[in-house]
Amino acid sequence: MHPDYDHLQQAAKDHLWMHFTRHSTYDHADVPVIVRGEGPYIWDAHGKRYLDGLSGLFVSQLGHGRTELVDAAAKQARELAFMPLWSYAHPTAIELAERIAGYAPGDLNRVFFTSGGGEAVETAWKLAKNYFKLTGKPTKHKVISRAIAYHGTTQGALSITGLPTMKEPFEPLVPSTFRVPNTNFYRAGGGFVASRSGDTHGTAEHGALDAARSLEAFGQWAANRIAEAIEFEGPETVAAVFLEPVQNSGGCFPPPPGYFQRVREICDEYDVLLVSDEVICAFGRLGHMFGAERYGYQPDIITCAKGLTSGYSPLGAMIATDRLMAPFLEGPSSFAHGYTFGGHPVSTAVAMANLDIFEDEKINEHVRDTEGAFRATLEKLSDLPIVGDVRGDGYFYGIELVKDKATKETFNDEESEKLLRGFLSRALFDEGLYCRADDRGDPVVQLAPPLICDQQHFDEIEQILRVVLDKAYSLI
Ligand code: PLP
Repeated sequence: MHPDYDHLQQAAKDHLWMHFTRHSTYDHADVPVIVRGEGPYIWDAHGKRYLDGLSGLFVSQLGHGRTELVDAAAKQARELAFMPLWSYAHPTAIELAERIAGYAPGDLNRVFFTSGGGEAVETAWKLAKNYFKLTGKPTKHKVISRAIAYHGTTQGALSITGLPTMKEPFEPLVPSTFRVPNTNFYRAGGGFVASRSGDTHGTAEHGALDAARSLEAFGQWAANRIAEAIEFEGPETVAAVFLEPVQNSGGCFPPPPGYFQRVREICDEYDVLLVSDEVICAFGRLGHMFGAERYGYQPDIITCAKGLTSGYSPLGAMIATDRLMAPFLEGPSSFAHGYTFGGHPVSTAVAMANLDIFEDEKINEHVRDTEGAFRATLEKLSDLPIVGDVRGDGYFYGIELVKDKATKETFNDEESEKLLRGFLSRALFDEGLYCRADDRGDPVVQLAPPLICDQQHFDEIEQILRVVLDKAYSLI
């Protein structure tokens, strides 16, 4: 037990305003207080251990307690604790910008640091608008994004976000953003889902082939909705499309094969910037430095944060092409935008040390080598009646829960409330797994463990989920 436990509890309830938190939950329960971490595990104030199945919040790529990152932070703070990037630079920001530019695909070559992901998204939208104003297309300002996608909470990023209930309390938000369908193949309907068992076409092989073709056709259909939205809004008004490589919110929707290639064509055709929002998907989450690399497409801008430092210090970045920076390199022009803590020296030093470990310990290779085992372990849960779909890539998965597997019937609001908030989140935690039960789309359990995990941790996740999901089904 933490020596100051009772005081911490009271002070948390009296003074700490937690993010996205229903505080009444803690009227008659203790606030969970996490006091330390080691590797992929965290411990609460009672000394109980949990597997960090969400890497905090898709952040702790290398897990907890990495002394190299701690030492890098201390060394930098001792040497130069702070200097903004407002007309001045400091060595680790320069080195990190060069390094990120080296990793980034194609001609993505210019790195603008922020304090986190939402600021990177804001920065990307502002750059898109400003760029077109400076290059003779001043009416291009609108953004297309996908239904249920989350892109942050600041008013611009929230406007781009595709979750109406999250936006409603803060309307009116920044105008000029428009939604298109996401790539939720499980719920695609419309004749896209072919028989996986082959029962309509004679053989299982044919069925699988049809399913693959159908997935591809669905991807083309979804991508073409972007062209349609651009046409509808007027290409001369649309500046950018914001897409995650794998959409998190809604429960991990990987892109169908060919989806991003078609989106790239559309963006080229209409001179619209393709922004790959990789706040979650970059830095190993999908086994590559960037998700765009995994799925073979070339964005005009990447936004990233989270795993860049493995959470040992906050940092985000917008990475843009030389073409997008060119208008800002001439005469008196400048990008009139910045953040006091964007590119904080301690964070950039930590990011350098983090990326050193990525190289030394071959973290991306490890994810690529073991992701098949992670998937196979999670797919074992498909025998449970409540598990409708297991989807994702790399170390990034969503398990969709359904009331009826055969019909894919989902839970109504009341059931979802009872299941997710009333039972699942707490029960998983009580069984020793920190992860998230989320109902921003259909109900899902989200998993994104630290990238150092292996089979032993996958098994632990599966075993805890099996027990808790079984119990959950008996409650409905
Ligand atoms: N974009 C995406 C895709 C995200 O997942 C998130 C956060 O989870 C953000 C933006 C916002 O990042 P932050 O919370 O660091 O502002």
